[in-house]
Amino acid sequence: MSIPALQLANICRAYRQGENVVTVLAGADLEIHPGEMVALVAPSGAGKSTLLHIAGLLEHPDQGEVFIGERATAALDDETRTLLRRSEIGFVYQFHHLLPEFTARENVTLPQRVAGLGETEANIRATEILTFLGLGHRLDHRPAELSGGEQQRVAIARAVANTPRLLLADEPTGNLDPVTGDHVFTTLAAIVKQSGLAALVATHNLDLAARMDRRITLREGRVVALA
Ligand code: ADP
Repeated sequence: MSIPALQLANICRAYRQGENVVTVLAGADLEIHPGEMVALVAPSGAGKSTLLHIAGLLEHPDQGEVFIGERATAALDDETRTLLRRSEIGFVYQFHHLLPEFTARENVTLPQRVAGLGETEANIRATEILTFLGLGHRLDHRPAELSGGEQQRVAIARAVANTPRLLLADEPTGNLDPVTGDHVFTTLAAIVKQSGLAALVATHNLDLAARMDRRITLREGRVVALA
């Protein structure tokens, strides 16, 4: 068996809300392997965003360990966590957050340049990924000149531009009509399988969840498998 791309071990997280302490995660365990696409389906308030933020090294758990590949992250300083996040983790949100002044290709090359890749290499890779996602004819268009589905595919290309090990997505098709959402999901699944990424996708869409390799939910702060 391969090493998990992501391993959450006994993650606990509580928030203080005024006088009260709200326990969101209470011993959550999860492993996701390379090439695996896992749907996280749970009602609002169950802790999906908290789990994604902790898995994405954006937030610290109160207890427990997050492994990205073989790397334990709890004891790392913020700078090292940021570097690890940049190189190993891609994020896709419900709204694309593309930079409006930049073309599709520039939006995809930016994170690669930040990671230290030269302009030529970054351009070649961005062109390859955007073409794979069916956007070869939209490379030099700005977000406002693209449809919602095209914008979201650029956001996916940007998330995978640094060849991360792990992709975390929060309702990646939530803002799209069903047909476009379906198309975007198909391209997302293709890139996960083609690149051996591990993906954790929070969604309320049960049709999309059914097309992933596994489905999980959160119950009393723990990760539970769904049929
Ligand atoms: P979901 O993404 O499933 O809707 P969240 O992870 O956003 O759930 O939130 C889970 C619970 O934790 C909610 O009750 C929410 O109010 C609470 N919560 C989340 N973030 C904070 C925070 N920063 N401070 C206080 N409470 C929070």
